[in-house]
Amino acid sequence: MKRREFLAAAAAAGGGLLFFPRWARGLTASGGKGQGSLPGAEVSPWEWDPLLLGGRQDLEPWAAGQDEVHLVILHTNDTHSRIDPFPMDGGPHQGLGGVARRAALVRRIRGEHPHVLLLDAGDIFQGTPYFNFFRGEIELRAMSAMGYDAATLGNHDFDNGVSGLVDVLPHAAFPFVSANYRIEDPDLAGRVQPWVVREVGGVKVGIFGLGIAFEGLVPRQLHEGVSYEDPYGAAQGAVAHLRRQGCSLVICLSHLGYRYSGERPSDTLLAQKVEGIDLILGGHTHTFMDRPDVYSDADGRSTLVHQVGFGGIRLGRIDVLLAREGDPAPAGSPGAAPHRQVGPSPGDLPGGSRTAAPFRPLRWRGGDYVVGPALD
Ligand SMILES: [Zn+2]
Repeated sequence: MKRREFLAAAAAAGGGLLFFPRWARGLTASGGKGQGSLPGAEVSPWEWDPLLLGGRQDLEPWAAGQDEVHLVILHTNDTHSRIDPFPMDGGPHQGLGGVARRAALVRRIRGEHPHVLLLDAGDIFQGTPYFNFFRGEIELRAMSAMGYDAATLGNHDFDNGVSGLVDVLPHAAFPFVSANYRIEDPDLAGRVQPWVVREVGGVKVGIFGLGIAFEGLVPRQLHEGVSYEDPYGAAQGAVAHLRRQGCSLVICLSHLGYRYSGERPSDTLLAQKVEGIDLILGGHTHTFMDRPDVYSDADGRSTLVHQVGFGGIRLGRIDVLLAREGDPAPAGSPGAAPHRQVGPSPGDLPGGSRTAAPFRPLRWRGGDYVVGPALD
């Protein structure tokens, strides 16, 4: 597997206009927000507004062309049973977070955009008395009410054992995904899948999960019937499967952790070792990232790695504009825009090619919301 190049971020203060992928170098940047759909070769592929405070004007919708689809991907990780905002106890996060605010924010964004995914990267449980008393039911019901599309399992989601997890999972109206936990417990096996495919705005989005090694984190008796397997191999298999299914976007919900010294599996290493993942939404290390890390393929395809701290203090947002591959819309048709011609790259994915995917990411942007009093 070829080593992938990490292109370091260099943010312009406040505006957050960044260049990353190799194919983007030398292109004209027109930057700014809400410019509508412009030919791919003339706009920055990457815009980032470091923090979108709740009271501020939001990102304007992209005016997607006829052969383009604008997806908004919202994400959390390590929410840790934080139902109410952090208490006003003088701590660094006092007054922040809370599921009611998050729900209102998600509702507002869904009101502005037709194609929204809401995802979580694990450790939903543990951290407040809500979990001690209700064993996870409240957390899962709140997430279901918010319309989460998928989540993965964190180590703390096993804190009441496999049976404790199985007991409350009926309160989750969304699927759990994990591609590297081999699940032999028959009750849990029916509730956790390696991946799911969501069709949003006509675009097939593949979502798979990766969990952290149990050793040192989850006592053996609490994960009986679930075993950890190599996350990179599982990710390669998931990517190949999802691309063969015609997924135009592949998202990994990872509870591996952002980065470690040494070779311990992490999102940072995953992005470099496994090709074909568009977006790695991470957790476990409670890392507040100001913007995603972006890794670029030799063929110009990017992998973004992002994580939004913990406790529901932030809601992550990444927008992607996907353009239909192949023949552009007929000249003169409404919304027709010349697309940057991007050929498929057969052979660069194990066991499959990208020819089946009808869309390709064209532009990325994003900014994280601070879930705070400004949203009240
Ligand atoms: Zn964790």
